[in-house]
Amino acid sequence: MSEPAVDTTALDRYECRVCGYVYEPDKGDDKHNIAPGTPFAELPITWRCPVCSAKSTAFTNIGGVGAASGFKENLGYGLGVNQLTPTQKNLLIFGGLVLAFLFFISLYGLQ
Ligand SMILES: [Zn+2]
Repeated sequence: MSEPAVDTTALDRYECRVCGYVYEPDKGDDKHNIAPGTPFAELPITWRCPVCSAKSTAFTNIGGVGAASGFKENLGYGLGVNQLTPTQKNLLIFGGLVLAFLFFISLYGLQ
C-alpha cells in the first residue's frame, strides 16, 4: 500500500443509511445542482438525500472510488494528468463537457 500522495478522502463515497443511496463525488447530484467532483464534505448544509430526503448526517463514509471503479486511472490516459489533484482533474473534465456542449450548440446555430 504505497499509493502516491493523492487526496483520496476528497472522493470518498457516502451511503445513506436510510435508503442505501450512495453519493458519488465524481458524479455529484444533478437533482440538487451539485457539480461532479464535489466532495461530500463540501455539500451545502441543506443538502439531503435525493432519494429519501434524509439529512446528510444520516450518511456514512464507505470509502473512496479508487479501489473499486478505476475511475481515477481512466482519467490519466496519455495526457499526464495523473499528477493533477482530483479537483484539477474534475475541472478538466467539467471544462471539457462545457466545451463539448458549446460545440454542440454552435452546430445548431449554423443551421
Ligand atoms: Zn436516502
